[in-house]
Amino acid sequence: MAMTHDEYRGLSLWHATAPGSLEPRPPLERDAQVDVAIVGAGYTGLWTAYYLASLEPGIRVAIVEAEIAGFGASGRNGGWCLGTLAGGETLLADPTRREAAERLQRALFDAVDEVGRVCGQEAIDCHYAKGGYVCVATAEAHREQLLRDLERWRSLGFGERDMRWLPQAECADRVRAKRNLGGLFFAHCAAIHPARLARGLALAVERRGVAIHEQTPALALEPRCVRTPRGSLRADTVVCATEAYSRTLPGQVRRIVPMHSMMVATEPLPEAAWKEIGLANRETFGDPRRIVVYGQRTADDRIAFGTRGSYFYGSGIRDRFEPGIAAFARVQHTLESFFPILRDFAITHRWGGPLGVPRNWRPSVGVDARAGLAWAGGYVGEGVAASNLAGRTLAELILARESERVHLPLVGPPFPSWEPEPLRWIGVRGLLRIGQSLDAAELAGRRTPRLRGAIWRSFVH
Ligand SMILES: Cc1cc2nc3c(=O)[nH]c(=O)nc-3n(C[C@H](O)[C@H](O)[C@H](O)COP(=O)(O)OP(=O)(O)OC[C@H]3O[C@@H](n4cnc5c(N)ncnc54)[C@H](O)[C@@H]3O)c2cc1C
Repeated sequence: MAMTHDEYRGLSLWHATAPGSLEPRPPLERDAQVDVAIVGAGYTGLWTAYYLASLEPGIRVAIVEAEIAGFGASGRNGGWCLGTLAGGETLLADPTRREAAERLQRALFDAVDEVGRVCGQEAIDCHYAKGGYVCVATAEAHREQLLRDLERWRSLGFGERDMRWLPQAECADRVRAKRNLGGLFFAHCAAIHPARLARGLALAVERRGVAIHEQTPALALEPRCVRTPRGSLRADTVVCATEAYSRTLPGQVRRIVPMHSMMVATEPLPEAAWKEIGLANRETFGDPRRIVVYGQRTADDRIAFGTRGSYFYGSGIRDRFEPGIAAFARVQHTLESFFPILRDFAITHRWGGPLGVPRNWRPSVGVDARAGLAWAGGYVGEGVAASNLAGRTLAELILARESERVHLPLVGPPFPSWEPEPLRWIGVRGLLRIGQSLDAAELAGRRTPRLRGAIWRSFVH
């Protein structure tokens, strides 16, 4: 049964506080013909539509969205608009691809600014604040890891303006984490309100003539045709922008693993609490553990904080969660380990959602011109800035426009398939367990064998 406006509001803090109505736009009611049909109104679909309509005014673009724009990860994420890419580390480490990987890295840095630029131009008030990312060393192993990371960045030619080491006191000036052995400051990161960005982008593409049909699930993607319950959308190019939800399409269950990330948000905190916490510039914060943790100070003075890591058998997808489940207690506990003062304040929102993990843990953008099919995604939880670059690149590829982006190593073949179940479940759950136990050992001050770390990293990239 279709969700109601109130149910959409209840999806996350961000949906609860997004301005404007969440009433679904009218669905596709009959057959239609366009130039480009996009399936999915998350950032990937919306950015692709935005650049198509900007580069070629008058082009006919229609988006079909199973729920409402920003229903998926794009409306629920941690709001880190971060200039990195899953798998980027491996690309940069490969001497034969280094030059291209460096160009890709610079393009990702630019994407963080491009999101801010377009939001300014289109009057999308997504609370964009480029305060950078502070990755705090909360254990000795973290400090060593971050110093190695910094050395690697430097050896690739990235300088103080891109990232720099924060000694303990300077780190504490920014993030007063309980455990602080210094930190790495990464300049290319902005905090945003995710649903404001998604909902604002939807309005911006409509202003440019793009049609959005909500509560219109694609039942099948065929060459140059999207089948929906009440009509087919024919197009020269069909774009698949369904990320973690791809498994809902016929034949796509092994395309991308939906990994769930869980978040909590505090009530708005008083000035006295911020004196204990820091984040004066709305820096985003976390530490370098393998099971990623991420937090931001929102524009209305809450902390929104999350951790990754649940996989459900058969690539199951969950969009709503009971507030009392243990996963939320764990997220809250981790947040309080950064800032014990938060035990005195209420958690007002708890939510989660699926992000998409391809088998090679690396995003891809591409067009199969013969079949009239295109794709973008596979961001492994680093999709806020990357989807801007991906959507822009995909629009240029579809329109056959020359640019530096269409030559980046982000452009590539479709995702290789994951293993069938139960192998997928065993592999993904096993990996999560190993990650959790290595993280716990390091946080307890124990050394972890580098070999196990290397195996982990080679598997996940
Ligand atoms: C809790 C959480 C925290 C995260 N935090 C961060 C972060 O801080 N920084 C960061 O960079 N990344 C983060 N991510 C990842 C980031 O949000 C995603 O990579 C990004 O939003 C992906 O955008 P997308 O448009 O590709 O996918 P989505 O936003 O998931 O959009 C896919 C859309 O397709 C629709 N759809 C699915 N199937 C169909 C169908 N059959 N027919 C029609 N429509 C369909 C869905 O309803 C959905 O709206 C996080 C993700 C989660 C879940």
